[in-house]
Amino acid sequence: MTVPPPCPDTLALIGNTPLVHLKGPSEAAGADIFGKCEFANPGASVKDRAALNIIRDAEARGALQPGGTVVEGTAGNTGIGIALVANALGYRTIIVMPDNQSAEKMATLRALGAQLVTVPPTKFADPNHFVHTSRRLAEQTPGAVWANQFDNQANRAAHIEGTATELWQQMDHRIDGFTCAAGTGGTIAGVGIGLKRYDPAITIALTDPHGAALYEYYAHGELRSEGNSVAEGIGQGRITGNLQDAPIDTQFRIADEEGLDWVARLLREEGLCLGLSSGINVAGAVALASELKARGVERPRVATILCDTGFRYLSTLYNPAWLAEKGLPVFDWLPRPEE
Ligand code: PMP
Repeated sequence: MTVPPPCPDTLALIGNTPLVHLKGPSEAAGADIFGKCEFANPGASVKDRAALNIIRDAEARGALQPGGTVVEGTAGNTGIGIALVANALGYRTIIVMPDNQSAEKMATLRALGAQLVTVPPTKFADPNHFVHTSRRLAEQTPGAVWANQFDNQANRAAHIEGTATELWQQMDHRIDGFTCAAGTGGTIAGVGIGLKRYDPAITIALTDPHGAALYEYYAHGELRSEGNSVAEGIGQGRITGNLQDAPIDTQFRIADEEGLDWVARLLREEGLCLGLSSGINVAGAVALASELKARGVERPRVATILCDTGFRYLSTLYNPAWLAEKGLPVFDWLPRPEE
């Protein structure tokens, strides 16, 4: 048995996550589908990687000085990552978040000592959007830097250097395809760029939820959305700095119901408790494997991202009343709400 050596400090716990072969999705697709267990990061999401690299980059540029403050607008997971990294390095954290995100994320941010500002959800063009609010707060706060995860390419660099390299090694240098959804786009662009450096033949696919504009953009060159999604942390309406020149070869659009079905199956059949973006990613991986098979690839090897833990969504995805209110199917093992 080989066991990893001790980590020199808590920040070294970020990344180097396990990769798991997913039985149900592999059987469904007649392929080998692997999930990168990003819920195993200290902040329980893929965003710890971006948080660490954004803060390290700000330090290296001299923008963040000892005792400084990191300000960010986030659906929650990046804020959790930033708060953990900032605590470990002696910085303060201010997080601006839309108030429709899960109560667990807000409670977690407060528990970690972040100063939390919530704003009503609104369109990106509105100056009160959480991203613009966080930029203004950073400008007004002495000694603060704005993490700017959407356009700051230190985000995707974490995936070029880290996630892609880990996948390449964990999959024995044999990968046919990779897919995931985009929030900032840091993961899909960074892993895509990184994997293509190892093997340009690897197919990189965007998996988009409904209500996002990237599927239409990569399919037809037009930023246009239809429908909607309750998935947190994914669904983008513009080409962010992190999505610039992302090597996307193909794209899928996945409905919440299909993503939820995989969330349910992975929980019941494989003992994994995940959030909805992970379920949507797995549905995308099954679709990508089918497309690769149709193109003649025998038993394709496809990787995707298991972005965060389902424990972050007990009041939403795992709450029958919430699901019913959204018109979504309730997991059949959960007690029904009183009629
Ligand atoms: N899933 C969840 C739950 C997230 O919080 C995020 C981050 N916004 C993503 C997926 C997408 O990651 P990225 O920002 O790298 O596109």
